[in-house]
Amino acid sequence: MINIQLSERQEKIIDIVKTNQPITSEEIAKKLNFTRATIRPDLAILTMSGILDARPKVGYFYSGKEALTFFQEQMKNMSVSDIKSVPIVVDEQTTVYNAIVTLFLEDVGSIYVTSDGLLTGVLSRKDFLKNAIGGIDLNKIPVGVIMTRMPNIVTIAPKESVLDAATKIIEHQVDSLPVVEEVNLNSKNGYKIIGRVSKTNIIRVFVDLCNNY
Ligand code: ADP
Repeated sequence: MINIQLSERQEKIIDIVKTNQPITSEEIAKKLNFTRATIRPDLAILTMSGILDARPKVGYFYSGKEALTFFQEQMKNMSVSDIKSVPIVVDEQTTVYNAIVTLFLEDVGSIYVTSDGLLTGVLSRKDFLKNAIGGIDLNKIPVGVIMTRMPNIVTIAPKESVLDAATKIIEHQVDSLPVVEEVNLNSKNGYKIIGRVSKTNIIRVFVDLCNNY
């Protein structure tokens, strides 16, 4: 516990930070109707005593558990469209051999498959390995034969959160999710692939949060 005597104004600052974090000193001053210069010594005391945490370019946090709250908020507020990457897509008629070449050239772990522009399947590294050691004719067999097929594909919408994506990846034990939009193409309902969110995208969020704040 903190055993320094806090002034009424310092207590007020703590309350403001708790409910508005991250918050800049300017915003705190505005809420209290003081100038920034007036509250500067208070903020210095509160940060030096470890009650508040100051992060450059972000603002003040209430320390301790609240830092974790910040991560939770970021995971919930950041959307899949903020972090998605370009999907690598092949047509169902593509041969397994050509899809493997694509996997290497594009340096990805999974490839999405479409037919008439709509999502029909997913191919992962293990799908290729399993079939390659199984001895199928890689140059003849189209990916449509070996892929995981709709409706068994776990997808995500661009407006869903990073936490939603991470949860689906963990629950379904997959490496990536196609980011999709529901469309009607040539009077067929289905999903148009607009991106890809993988474990790497999610780890990048953590690395960025740790490095930037
Ligand atoms: P790896 O094969 O490298 O372990 P995954 O864990 O992503 O990669 O794939 C495991 C299995 O799940 C594969 O058969 C793959 O086709 C399938 N799969 C991959 N992504 C999805 C997804 N988003 N929805 C449904 N199935 C998927």
